[in-house]
Amino acid sequence: MTQFLPFALPDIGDEEIAEVVRSLRSGWLSTGPRARAFEDAFAAMLGGGVHTVAVNSATAGLHLAVEALGIGPGDQVIVPTHTFTATAEVVRYVGADVIFADIDPETYCIDPRQIESRATARTKAVIPVHYGGQGCDMRAILEISQQLGLAVVEDAAHALPTHVGGKLVGTLDSDCAVFSFYATKTITTGEGGMLVTRDERIASRARVMRLHGIDRDAFDRYQSNRPSWYYEVIAPGFKYNLTDLAAAIGLQQLGRTTAFHARRLQLAERYDMELAELPIRLPPRSDGKDHAWHLYVIQLLDTASLARDEFIARMHEGGIACSVHYIPLHQQPYWRQRYDLKAADFPHSQGLFERCVSLPIYTKMSDDDQSRVVNQIRRLLQ
Ligand SMILES: *Cc1c(COP(=O)(O)O)cnc(C)c1O
Repeated sequence: MTQFLPFALPDIGDEEIAEVVRSLRSGWLSTGPRARAFEDAFAAMLGGGVHTVAVNSATAGLHLAVEALGIGPGDQVIVPTHTFTATAEVVRYVGADVIFADIDPETYCIDPRQIESRATARTKAVIPVHYGGQGCDMRAILEISQQLGLAVVEDAAHALPTHVGGKLVGTLDSDCAVFSFYATKTITTGEGGMLVTRDERIASRARVMRLHGIDRDAFDRYQSNRPSWYYEVIAPGFKYNLTDLAAAIGLQQLGRTTAFHARRLQLAERYDMELAELPIRLPPRSDGKDHAWHLYVIQLLDTASLARDEFIARMHEGGIACSVHYIPLHQQPYWRQRYDLKAADFPHSQGLFERCVSLPIYTKMSDDDQSRVVNQIRRLLQ
């Protein structure tokens, strides 16, 4: 009997385990030298010239970003409906409201024209999501946002490494980009995230707010004539710091980013080839190498013999886990009721939701695992 193939698995090697053990033996478990080293290594990976703020989740990083931008009650932030709820919930954390936008059916990312048509005088920012690792049309998004005076916070949870117009996400002209190191993401720290910005003010506000509103810089400034136990609280901040234990995993994972990406790309290209003749729409991409391939999302065409739910159930019976990204937020009770949302206002997201299946794609998958997925899909659809 072959084993059940999970939808995703982290790829943890001896290097990660050894680094965590070194961290444990060092006695420094919470935020310390490894968290700092992880921030520095992440900035270096992006080519330098950016501030990196390590946090305990991407959700925390997105929250710190909208807080640092001064967004609050009475303000609005545009978010694509086709995303995880974290992208939108942080807007509510600061008391602002969400305006949901539909996606572009060619990229599955936010349709830049929707930013123009849905923005109001109260709209302050947009949070585009690089869905599945496919880069958004950032040129259009940045241009429209500049015209309308909107800040841009990239939800880069899927986007390590994604290129847009030849540049790595994290180095683009947005206000900030936030990466996730959740267990299923392209690199992991178990739980963790990184806020990346070139704006000194956003970085320093986020550093203060990630640890109880304690102003380290003021502390450092006065260190020479203050006792070592002295600190100042300048705001009711949060508890969003990344532990050294998590950063130890991240340091080693970061070094494997390129190798991980090469394997994901290989898996994606093989799916492309093997599934080409089936009643399936393959994932969008600008250039295969630009895509982080966090997700491999197919759509079952209307000519397919099975509907989506049936397809996933039969894959599961065959020992293969698939998933759906995402149940759009306009369908979720909280968001639907709060903003009286109708599926008809998000036809492209709704259409994608009804047909989409995320296939397993992760570095721990073997070629044989992938053959099983492909053969099972062929059996179901041919
Ligand atoms: C995973 C994810 C997040 C949240 O990341 P955490 O690190 O779990 O907080 C946010 N947005 C998207 C699109 C995600 O997939």
